[in-house]
Amino acid sequence: MLNKVLIANRGEIALRIQRCCRELGIKTVAVYSTADRDLKHVALADEAVCIGPPPASQSYLNMAAIISAAEITDADAIHPGYGFLSENADFAESVEKSGFTFVGPRGETIRLMGEKTSAKREMIAAGVPCVPGLPNTLPVQDSAFCIKAAEDIGYPVLIKAAAGGGGRGMHVVRKPAELMRSISLASNEAQAAFADGSVFLEKYLETPRHIEFQVLADGQGNAIHLGERDCSMQRRNQKVVEEAPAPGITEEQRDRIGALCVAACKRIGYRGAGTMEFIYENGEFYFIEMNTRIQVEHGITEMVTNTDLIHEQLRIAAGEKLRLKQEDIVLRGHAVECRINAEDPYRMLPSPGVIESYHQPGGPGIRMDSHIYSGYRVPPNYDSMIGKLIAYGPDRQSAIARMRVALSEMFITGIKTNIPLQMRIMDDEVFNRAEHHIHYLGGRIERWAAEALKR
Ligand code: ADP
Repeated sequence: MLNKVLIANRGEIALRIQRCCRELGIKTVAVYSTADRDLKHVALADEAVCIGPPPASQSYLNMAAIISAAEITDADAIHPGYGFLSENADFAESVEKSGFTFVGPRGETIRLMGEKTSAKREMIAAGVPCVPGLPNTLPVQDSAFCIKAAEDIGYPVLIKAAAGGGGRGMHVVRKPAELMRSISLASNEAQAAFADGSVFLEKYLETPRHIEFQVLADGQGNAIHLGERDCSMQRRNQKVVEEAPAPGITEEQRDRIGALCVAACKRIGYRGAGTMEFIYENGEFYFIEMNTRIQVEHGITEMVTNTDLIHEQLRIAAGEKLRLKQEDIVLRGHAVECRINAEDPYRMLPSPGVIESYHQPGGPGIRMDSHIYSGYRVPPNYDSMIGKLIAYGPDRQSAIARMRVALSEMFITGIKTNIPLQMRIMDDEVFNRAEHHIHYLGGRIERWAAEALKR
C-alpha cells in the first residue's frame, strides 16, 4: 500500500481523502494557501505545507509548489481530489515524471477524454450511444460545411467547446440564420477560456435528464461500473441535488449502459475512478463527457453500493488489481445528496464570512461530508460549497423524508446558505414525482424567490 499521500486540494474533499488515508494507516500531507490555515484537515495532517497566497492560481493550481511539497515531505503519491489540477494532463505527467504516483488515470488518458470530440470518438468506437452530431472539430471558416452539418443534425443544435468545462462556450442555435454568428461567438469564448477555439456541433435536447455512471478500473484490464446517479436538479449547469439510483431506470438499462461504460474503460486502458456523463430523454441515453476523477457526488454511490471509492482509488494507485467484481456491486436503497453552499439561496451570490455557530444533523442514514465548524471563516477565494448532506433510506421517499428532517435540523449562523432552497426542492411535488429535468430548477427559481420574500 501507499505510505504517505499528499492531498492537493482543500475543503470537504481534502478531509474526505484524509479520513480514508488515516483509516488505512497511510500518512497524509496537507497543502494549503494562506487563506486556509484553519482548515480541519490541515490540523489533522501528519505534515502541512503552505503553498502560496489565497488566489488558486498561486496555490492550488501551482504545480511546482505542490510537487516541491511532495519532495520536501517525501510523499509517495499525490491525490488531486476534484476541481483544481485533477483533470490537468500536464500535472498528472509532471507528478509521475517527478517520481510520485498520481492517484488517477495516466496523463494521456486525461488528455484523450478531456477533449470532448476525441472522447466522443472513443465512445462511439466502444459502442456507447452519443448525442447525434459530428464528433469532430468544426472548420469555423467554412460556412458551407457548418450550415450543411447543422442541417443534417436538425435544429435546434448546440455548439460546444471541444476543450469545454463549466458550460462555457456553449450556445443553442434554433435558426440557420443565427448559426455562423453563434459559432464565431462560441469559438472566441472557448479561445478566451481554454486557449483553444475548437468547437463542434451536437443535436440540442430540450428537456433531458442528466444521468451519469460511476466506473472503477485498474489499468490492468479490469473494470466495473457502480450504477448511475441522477443529477438533473441543476442551475446554470451546476448540480444542486443528486441521487442514486436514477428514478425509473430499469435494471436492464443499467446493465446495458453500465456494460458499455466498462467496455469503453477497457478500450482506453482506464485507471482509477471515473464518471461517464449522459443526457437522457425519451428512454434513450446519450454520452456527453467523461470526468476522469472522483466527483463531488461520489458519496451517494458509496451509500447505495456499500463501497468506499476513495479507498479503491488508493488501492488502484498502489498498483493493486481491482478487488471488486461486477457481481459484488449490488444496489440497495436510495441516497439523496444536497450540496450545501455558502450563498444567498435565491440570488446564488456567494456569502463568505465567519460561521458563528453550527449544528450538524445526524441520525440513521444521515451523512454530512464537510470541513466546517463553529468559528470557521469561509474564505471568499474558492467555490462556495461548504458541505454535502446525504440522506440514505430503503427507498426514495424515505430518503427524501430523512433529508427534510436533516435540513431542518442543520443550523448555520453568521453566513447565508442555500438550505432554504434545498428545503423548497425537497418539498416540491415535481421533484417528489421525479419528473424534473435539467432546466426545471432554472425555470422555477424566480417564482420560489418571490414566494420566499413574501413569507
Ligand atoms: P461542460 O464540460 O462545459 O460542463 P457538458 O458537456 O458536461 O459541458 O455539458 C454541460 C451541461 O449542458 C450538461 O450537464 C447538460 O445539462 C447540458 N447539455 C450538454 N449537452 C447537451 C445537449 N446536446 N443537449 C442539451 N443539453 C446538453
